[in-house]
Amino acid sequence: GGGGGGAAEDCCVKVAVHIRPLIGDERLQGCKDCVFVVHGKPQVQIGSHSFTFDRVYGSSGSPSSAMFEECVSPLVDGLFQGYNATVLAYGQTGSGKTYTMGTAVKDGQQSGLIPQVMNALFGKIESLKHQAEFQLRVSFIEILKEEVRDLLDPASTGKLEAGNGNAGKVSVPGKPPVQIREASNGVITLAGSTEIDVNTQTEMAACLEQGSLSRATGSTNMNNQSSRSHAIFTITLEQMRKLDPIITADGSPIEDMNEDFLCAKLHLVDLAGSERAKRTGSDGLRFKEGVHINKGLLALGNVISALGDEKKRKEGVHVPYRDSKLTRLLQDSLGGNSRTVMIACISPADINAEESLNTLKYANRAR
Ligand code: ADP
Ligand code: MG
Repeated sequence: GGGGGGAAEDCCVKVAVHIRPLIGDERLQGCKDCVFVVHGKPQVQIGSHSFTFDRVYGSSGSPSSAMFEECVSPLVDGLFQGYNATVLAYGQTGSGKTYTMGTAVKDGQQSGLIPQVMNALFGKIESLKHQAEFQLRVSFIEILKEEVRDLLDPASTGKLEAGNGNAGKVSVPGKPPVQIREASNGVITLAGSTEIDVNTQTEMAACLEQGSLSRATGSTNMNNQSSRSHAIFTITLEQMRKLDPIITADGSPIEDMNEDFLCAKLHLVDLAGSERAKRTGSDGLRFKEGVHINKGLLALGNVISALGDEKKRKEGVHVPYRDSKLTRLLQDSLGGNSRTVMIACISPADINAEESLNTLKYANRAR
């Protein structure tokens, strides 16, 4: 892309890299680190390649709160001003997307971004409750093979409980797939997906947990965790302001009366594994799924690259939202006034060097 450094505030897409430490398996195989962070700079080196991003979180020493504070907290603040936002975790299976997002809540592991978003949201609501009334809603869906599936569907939850230990492997016939709709004002809605009103942080965390249990899994050569679907946890914040509009120095109100109601949403996206379809090997069916996943990631890459390129934007270059379900769903929360952060997750291990390089190239295109 064009852009280059500077003017980070003008740019609607921020890109951070998260390098996890070597994990047990990699250590057992005797893997070596092959990804290096240039000291004091948001710059990553792998082999002879070097990339600069908005932020780099190295494999050691960065507290998990730094990424939240620097990359995601401003998006949470923006929600209260009516700005939609999207956080995307990109990377090959096993690179740390789910760990980084905190999509799968494990006992005692609360360091991912989503739990921190919840903390910040409820904290802010508490401090603003004398000024406005708030209502929070959540939905949790996944996109698998270009089909949208409701992870909070009460019917499928019942099946999972009955499945007893087979959670996620039960194929749930359930209701018809969720439809993505665009209203005349450009607002994207999901027809037929469950939206749950939540009043407490505990309720919101329960939705996250319920949905992540329901997420499809399928084994590949890479990993037997869910890796072929995009999981999207969406928080919608509605607020009704109690106070009069703010009056500027020249006496004009900043917002007129009908803007006392604000609604904004934050999509927290744990993307499908970015590894090439060929690496998942196996049968033709699985390969087709791989192709579909790549369709979403490919379209996302094209959309973000079109948005990030100011020259292209000024020339009114077509942004290809319609090329996949993923980009269609995120359409009103990518670009325009909305804020987007992509977190490229990578393994530092030499055996993953090729995929890590692919991830860094993809993320680099987004800048
Ligand atoms: P993905 O969702 O991209 O497939 P995961 O988030 O499941 O990857 O991470 C793969 C493995 O690496 C998991 O065992 C996870 O606990 C571990 N892991 C990921 N990121 C980190 C990290 N920053 N620190 C320690 N372990 C991590
Ligand atoms: Mg995962």
